[in-house]
Amino acid sequence: MKKLSYLFLVLILFGCAPSPAPKQPTWALAIHGGAGTIIKESMTPELEQQYQEKLGEALKAGSNLLKNGGTSLDAVCAAIIVMEDSPLFNAGKGAVFTAEGVNEMDASIMNGENLMAGAVAGVKHIKNPILAARAVMEKSLHVMLMGDGAEKFAEQQGIELVDSSYFFTQARWNSYLKAREKATQEKFGTCGAVALDKHGNLAAGTSTGGMTYKMKGRVGDSPIIGAGTYADNNGCAISATGHGEFFIRNVVAFQIDALMKYKHLPLDEAARHMIFDVLKPMGGEGGVIAIDTSGNISMPFNTAGMYRGCITSDKNAEVKIYGDEH
Ligand code: ASP
Repeated sequence: MKKLSYLFLVLILFGCAPSPAPKQPTWALAIHGGAGTIIKESMTPELEQQYQEKLGEALKAGSNLLKNGGTSLDAVCAAIIVMEDSPLFNAGKGAVFTAEGVNEMDASIMNGENLMAGAVAGVKHIKNPILAARAVMEKSLHVMLMGDGAEKFAEQQGIELVDSSYFFTQARWNSYLKAREKATQEKFGTCGAVALDKHGNLAAGTSTGGMTYKMKGRVGDSPIIGAGTYADNNGCAISATGHGEFFIRNVVAFQIDALMKYKHLPLDEAARHMIFDVLKPMGGEGGVIAIDTSGNISMPFNTAGMYRGCITSDKNAEVKIYGDEH
């Protein structure tokens, strides 16, 4: 014992006393409301404020749960529901239209503690697709349900179904008409959340209307586990947004997790590698939000902007829209 105290005294005298480990956040949350051609010149101050407020509301809904010891899964759902219920984001109310003028939505969720996952694809009447994805994970033996089957299951689980007219918004209809004129798919949207809770567990969720003027039946990356969503306590939690076909082909969410898990890359390096070195050269536009069990957050994107925000036990809420905001 005496020897040990002597050793500490020597260490202190020579200025090499073990410094306390840097404080880590006990909980953390990041959200996105879609990446794309989001530039200040095409935004009005009123609309900008609406986006900032809604993103702030989503952060608050999730962080209120995390602060009080709630689970990362609950926080992810709460944040996404705020965005699904808002016409501002391409998910739930505000979802974009297919080439046939219909709203077909996809969503998924994953629990980093046990790798359980749930997803729905091509649903047209589920008010909050993220809740249906969660029910698939928790109440079925499957990972993904699609179309009518997903809707029937959601109804059996007491999840609210609505008439398809609920999803109509004039803004999305105008985008549809424009896309129809040019006969091209366009515009990215989507919303997502990733969280770390006080119990050390990660979760990720993503919900989308897909791409404007997509083919009937087209499914993007958002409901595909490993492409648009992934959560793993041994790596990280990811939610993606962007041109889904590129995210599927590059299994983006899982690759970020794998780079951390197998190559021991730090979170930010792994996420930036996929967005800038892998996706960008092949024309894959978009971004991700990522979080690890130390509460590190990374939000890289290769588009002009990405609606995004984060909050941790140590840092106030922060909301950003454009690429040049650091
Ligand atoms: N990734 C979504 C999809 O391809 C769209 C988006 O994020 O904007 O369906």
